[in-house]
Amino acid sequence: MVGGGILGTTHAWQALKLGHDVIHVERDLLPRGASVRNFGLIWVSGRRAGLELDEAIRARLMWEELSLEFPAMEFNPNGSLTLAKNEMEVAILEECLKKVDADIRQWSVLDKRETQRVNPAVRGAFLAALWCPLDATVEPATVLTSLRAGLSKKPKYRWRSGVEIKSITPKAEYVQAISDSDEIFEGDLLILCPGADHQTLFKNEFAAAPIRQVRLQMMSTDVFPEKLTTSIADGDSLRYYPAYAETNLATLPMQAPIASEKHMQLLLVQRSDGTLTIGDTHEYETPFEFTLDERPYEYLHEVASSLIGKTLPPIVRRWDGIYSQRIDGEIVDRRFIFPNVIAVTGPGGRGNSLAPAIAEQTFDWIQRGSGDGI
Ligand SMILES: Cc1cc2nc3c(=O)[nH]c(=O)nc-3n(C[C@H](O)[C@H](O)[C@H](O)COP(=O)(O)OP(=O)(O)OC[C@H]3O[C@@H](n4cnc5c(N)ncnc54)[C@H](O)[C@@H]3O)c2cc1C
Repeated sequence: MVGGGILGTTHAWQALKLGHDVIHVERDLLPRGASVRNFGLIWVSGRRAGLELDEAIRARLMWEELSLEFPAMEFNPNGSLTLAKNEMEVAILEECLKKVDADIRQWSVLDKRETQRVNPAVRGAFLAALWCPLDATVEPATVLTSLRAGLSKKPKYRWRSGVEIKSITPKAEYVQAISDSDEIFEGDLLILCPGADHQTLFKNEFAAAPIRQVRLQMMSTDVFPEKLTTSIADGDSLRYYPAYAETNLATLPMQAPIASEKHMQLLLVQRSDGTLTIGDTHEYETPFEFTLDERPYEYLHEVASSLIGKTLPPIVRRWDGIYSQRIDGEIVDRRFIFPNVIAVTGPGGRGNSLAPAIAEQTFDWIQRGSGDGI
């Protein structure tokens, strides 16, 4: 298994469940990719109807299974509130309830008083909320470490960090991977989960694949003195998530210029230490900016403060992250590079939510011997 992010780790978990011996290799001493830079959201509410929603619900169950198997992992089934601040956004929420899969998502629309019963700390300028109790969170700073600590207790699992795989060569009956320090690893099957690194290995294959990189800006505030019992999204997320695509989005008022320029929505998660993780922006054109733009931070801090109803603590950390995303709406890019080498990447902004189910599907897919890149 190459790649110590959430996809590599959940693939390692699945491989062990199926009885395989696993060597799990990661370039960094501790993973530094999208899986530790994200919100930690396990987000069912916004998923596209059909297969993606089915996979999200399956993954949500599997996250719960993971939390039982690895109790050190912080799994918070806190649900989410998407807050509507004007009548047009409320109308979209109402329209959502008429969708055939509204019950599967466990959606309901709450007025302000009902919303505050679910999350008493939300007292700001909003009219109603879409409540999705299925949404959950994990802690990005610790989730991989706690999963690996659990996996490491299994005799068939070996973790090697600080090892970059530089070449992968299929042999007649096995596959060989060679590291940057010429260490040789051999096995029956290699699964590569490189995240947004489309360059180091199989550059040409990734260049031809229907995937792209997307860069996001994120921030964390200082400790918020109250408990936020749910995750929070704002009405801009209605424009962003495919679940809302067939509603009357054209009736929504114009986004704020900075939100529109930076393809923004507000997502907010309170971490277990009380700080608030807030984002995000989306940048699609490469080469990406290497600087962090301050304007989205000011805007998001203001929007979040207004929805919560008091000025949030100051921003104390800012970072960006890059994910790999399928550009045609498919859930993931899964391809045989060789008969015994499979690359899995491209889940976009849903990789954390779906990772356990994506890993499960990979092994089903291998059994079926598929090879058409999805
Ligand atoms: C800012 C941000 C917020 C997000 N929020 C959410 C969210 O809340 N919910 C959600 O569902 N999704 C979210 N996502 C998406 C999600 O984080 C990603 O889809 C997911 O983490 C991808 O996991 P991964 O394992 O494929 O990649 P990564 O986490 O990037 O891991 C890939 C790993 O492979 C290693 N690697 C690569 N090449 C080699 C090599 N040759 N040798 C050894 N190691 C190698 C890298 O060092 C890296 O550690 C977010 C993404 C970002 C950037």
